[in-house]
Parts: sequence; C-alpha cells; structure tokens
Amino acid sequence: VQPLIGITGMRHVIQVKSAGPVLLGVASADDYALGIESAGGVPLVIPYIEQKSSVAALAKKLDGLLLSGGEDMDPILFDENPRSGLGQVVPERDELELALIHEMLGQRKPILGICRGMQVLNVALGGTLYQDLDRQWRGLIAHQQKARRDHLSHGIRIESKSQLYDLLGRQKYLRTNSFHHQAVRKLAKSLRPVAWDEEGLIEGVEHVSASFILAVQWHPENLWRTHSVFHGLFKGLVEASSTPAT
Ligand code: MN
Repeated sequence: VQPLIGITGMRHVIQVKSAGPVLLGVASADDYALGIESAGGVPLVIPYIEQKSSVAALAKKLDGLLLSGGEDMDPILFDENPRSGLGQVVPERDELELALIHEMLGQRKPILGICRGMQVLNVALGGTLYQDLDRQWRGLIAHQQKARRDHLSHGIRIESKSQLYDLLGRQKYLRTNSFHHQAVRKLAKSLRPVAWDEEGLIEGVEHVSASFILAVQWHPENLWRTHSVFHGLFKGLVEASSTPAT
C-alpha cells in the first residue's frame, strides 16, 4: 500500500478583479508532491484548518508529513519580539504546522522538514531561530542564491553516523542549493545537528530518539530530478511511512 504523505503549503493570496476583497488559500510547489510521488507515496496538500480536533483526525489518516519551505515563523513562538529583517509571517500556518508536528510525534509517524520545515520543527521542540542571517549570523556564505533552483551553491559537511548520511549516498561532503535567510540558532534538545555549512551554520537535523524525524535547510525537491542523490530524502520518508509505527 502506498503511504499517504501530507504536505503543508504557503499562504496563497488570490486577487479577484472587481469582486471585493482578496481570497485566501494555500499554495504548494509541484516539486514537493512530485518528489513524494516519484518515491512511491501519495502526496496530499493540507489546507489551513483551524480546529485541533480536525488536525488530530487528519494526522491519524496520514502516514507521513512533509513540512515545506515558505514564510518566516512568528518569533513570538520562541519568545522573541520581531526584529528588523524578519520577513512575512503567517500565524495560521505556524499554528497548523505546530499542531501537526505534535500530533505526528505523538503517533510516532515520520516527518521530513524542508527549509522553513526545519525551522518550524526546531521551534516546535523548544529551539530558537536567527530571524535574519545577515543581521545576526557571523558567517559570510550567501544562503540566498541568485542562481536557478536546481543549481548547487554552498557546500555542507555531513555527520557520518546519521540517517541523513545514509540517505544521501554516504558522502561526507556535498553541495546544495540554498534559499533561506533564517536558520536554527539554539537547537532543540531532542534534535541533533547532522549537517553544517563550512562556517558551522546548521543545515540538517534529526531527532535523537524518534525513528524518522529529519530536516534539511536546503531544497531537495528542486534537486532530485537533476541530482539523484537528493531523491534519497523522499525515498527515506516514503519508506519510513510505509512501515507501521512501533
Ligand atoms: Mn544554506
């Protein structure tokens, strides 16, 4: 049976000409869904539902969760005021994703976080973020590449005793794409770092005890077609979601 993988999406604002106020919805880049599909899973984009009970009911039906990239997290969720450099915040998205993470964790189901997804996972488990790397981080590496989405930009080092290492073809060094201006600052206690850029910024994390709670700061959904090593992340999520939780 193919596992059902939920995918969270960005806020989509639809401008309707001469028909009153804007319409709000959810948007998801095809690359996430196609990555899941090509790995043998059934992808499903999740709308911004509001009730805890329906989030819980949805999580029961999902076999796995992909937290996608997108807007900045509301810093109040890690006890900070917004700082200059913070981008767009979507409180309803934060709320949905935090609830989903706790439900999936409680049900011991797999989670793959991508970019913002890694940041949300870290905050959900008690960590904090750099609200804006240019203003708060000492490093000089550019994390918002100007090249096309599937271009490999900065390098990362990967911990060899990690799931990430096994999923990415057992290589200690890789180059990735990079489209983020935020990053993990204080890491949550239940996560461990498993990848870093060459200045020490965290680029990959996994849960210390849960079997498949893993996240990366780059965008493998834009890479798996052209750089097959990154397809391993989708295969890993689908495979972990195919095995009943123990
Ligand atoms: Mn980066």
